[in-house]
Amino acid sequence: MKSTLNDTILRIAVATPLYCLFDYLAPIDVDISNLSPGSRIEIPFGKSKRFGVLIEMAKKSDVPQERLRRAIRCINSDDIPQELLALCRWAADYYHHPVGDVIATALPTLLRHGKTVSDATVNHWSLTQVGQECDTESLARAPRQQTLLQQFQRATHFMLSRAELQASDFAWQPSLKTLIDKQLVQPCEPNLSAEVKTSSVELNDDQQTATEKIQQKLGSFSCFLLEGVTGSGKTEVYFEAMQMVLNENKQCLVLVPEIGLTPQLTQRIEKRFNQNFVAYHSGLNDSERARAWQDAASGKAKIIIGTRSAVFLPLANPGLVIVDEEHDLSFKQQDGFRYHARDIAIRRAQQLNIPIVLGSATPSIESSENVRNMRYHCLHLPKRGGKANPPTVGLVDMRRQALKGALSPLLIAHMERTLEKGEQILLFVNRRGYAPALFCHDCGWIAKCQRCDANMTVHHTKHCLRCHHCGGQRALDKHCGDCQSTEITTLGFGTEQIEDTLTKLFPYQRIVRIDRDTTQQKGSMNKLLNQVEEGQADILIGTQMIAKGHHLPNITLAAILNADQGLFATDFRALEHLAQLIVQVTGRAGRGDKAGHVLIQTHYPDHPLLQTLINDGYRAFSERLTTERRAAELPPFSHMALLRAEAVDEASPMQFLQSAKEQAEPLAMDNTFLLGPIPAPMTKRAGRFRAQLLIQASDRRSLHALLYQWVRQLSSIKLARKVRWSIDIDPMDMN
Ligand code: ADP
Ligand code: ZN
Ligand code: ZN
Repeated sequence: MKSTLNDTILRIAVATPLYCLFDYLAPIDVDISNLSPGSRIEIPFGKSKRFGVLIEMAKKSDVPQERLRRAIRCINSDDIPQELLALCRWAADYYHHPVGDVIATALPTLLRHGKTVSDATVNHWSLTQVGQECDTESLARAPRQQTLLQQFQRATHFMLSRAELQASDFAWQPSLKTLIDKQLVQPCEPNLSAEVKTSSVELNDDQQTATEKIQQKLGSFSCFLLEGVTGSGKTEVYFEAMQMVLNENKQCLVLVPEIGLTPQLTQRIEKRFNQNFVAYHSGLNDSERARAWQDAASGKAKIIIGTRSAVFLPLANPGLVIVDEEHDLSFKQQDGFRYHARDIAIRRAQQLNIPIVLGSATPSIESSENVRNMRYHCLHLPKRGGKANPPTVGLVDMRRQALKGALSPLLIAHMERTLEKGEQILLFVNRRGYAPALFCHDCGWIAKCQRCDANMTVHHTKHCLRCHHCGGQRALDKHCGDCQSTEITTLGFGTEQIEDTLTKLFPYQRIVRIDRDTTQQKGSMNKLLNQVEEGQADILIGTQMIAKGHHLPNITLAAILNADQGLFATDFRALEHLAQLIVQVTGRAGRGDKAGHVLIQTHYPDHPLLQTLINDGYRAFSERLTTERRAAELPPFSHMALLRAEAVDEASPMQFLQSAKEQAEPLAMDNTFLLGPIPAPMTKRAGRFRAQLLIQASDRRSLHALLYQWVRQLSSIKLARKVRWSIDIDPMDMN
């Protein structure tokens, strides 16, 4: 007998490139009243099986009865909460991306594949009586177990949390298991409370005002921009606001740009709060991610700190969202579902009716403009928090200087003086490797990547040429690729070469290099930073990775070896990013009680915006840049979307975009412009030719009205099958 209930149609989101939901009949044996949007459902899909997420139920389907298939089963756990589902649906609309793929991005892999994780999650362990009395020397033959036992013996209440263990840089799980087997360690439930562990610093007046303003808005939506120079005590303001939220037994979601930043902040949170917290980032394995998801969903985790994708974590009882370094580019996903985690976080806070705090020393032009038009409230911390004074900044004119490698005589003199005082130095270099190009002195040939429009980077340590865009690698050329001359040399410099130069100039100093090549192993970045912090290094060389967040109080001299690349780049955001970088590097110097000094090497010391930045500060710079953007009608004074296409042949991407443009023209309003198509600035990457069409409109609504109709038609273009295309809303990187 056929039950009428089972004729219910389930409309399911599946991770595919298609902009639609898929209709299925409910499984035979399922009680419909138990189903709600957000349930995970296994379905037959083509010739295979897949998992999807129930979006809505319906009585009728447009799919003819005989073609409707029946769903296989429903999974009765880890449903996606309604609020999160609503957020995903909003994001799918805003970014014009298929909702199934948005949900797939939001879910941890295990849950996406229909799995469940056992509920009995242990997050804390402590020593047994035997463990407390155990002499660690008895474990001398098992050094990891020994280290771990020592760590437990040093810990408060002999207890360690999962987050603390995850911060250690070795595989702790097997050792922990052995210690449990030996009955030295046992799982435990911590005695958590809203009390602070360590007393907080006494807030200065600016911090106090900022905290009070946030406090007034608890329980309702408000977006704050916390603008404070580096070291002004933004983190202390976050902590005060978090404390107020935790006192009400609510959760705090903290987004940070990169994993490299997480350990220090994690440690500070661990020290400060006596609360269950999870860290959610790409360093976790699948089951750790799923567990973190559950702890956030159940409300067990009170503080959730994570990178970009953590914006999609479910929250049982949310109270506050914080986005640290809101201007940072890594909040924007650059492939697949190209969302901006900061922007989604703002939308989410609004939906949850809770406050959100965006923090930065160098707010994005967009966010500052939103303060000006009163959408955000500004909280300003103009002074450094503790005793430290702001560093002095100087430009070094590189023209006609006798350089040693990439170092000017003035910089070298400053370095010598700093080292004599026993203080540390940080040198920022924007390239890893030895040199960004290999060059023939006789004919001008430059070694290129065969798959990209890019020069190969010379790596001396590994003795090879590498492409930083596609990962391609080959042996160092001994002859010129054109004229066979052996007169080939390198052009420009990268971190490896600077390290070389320094070893010769300062043979007795200890040098630490931090870039992607020296930090491939898990935990190695922290190890190197600790070396610097503990005074086991004199000079620190590094890329972007060292510009952010780290508190290294004995660094008193910081230098940017070459600021010129950002000055004349074609991307209209390049100057903004250069200024943010300069300020960030500046923030690394003189964080302790000794004065800091910063040198910026450039061939264009008279550049007006550089001058404004150095003489009048980031705020003045930002205002000047805003004026230029307004005059040029660039974002945030207009709104953009970028349609990209790529293919193995050169012609298809341009042809596809041309057809796309013709499709869009009748749909576009007068204030919407279709610019291009043009070949992408990097026309070929990883063996594919790339082109782009820019859509620009004076108001957001016209842009989205066009996109809504148009993007869904694009797959009807004949070449749509031959090219890979994608739409990027509010693009940050125009390459
Ligand atoms: P930011 O997050 O803005 O870079 P932090 O919160 O990390 O700044 O503070 C920088 C340093 O100043 C830290 O060592 C912090 O303990 C100290 N600090 C911050 N606020 C105060 C204060 N009100 N009194 C004393 N020290 C402070
Ligand atoms: Zn040559
Ligand atoms: Zn390449």
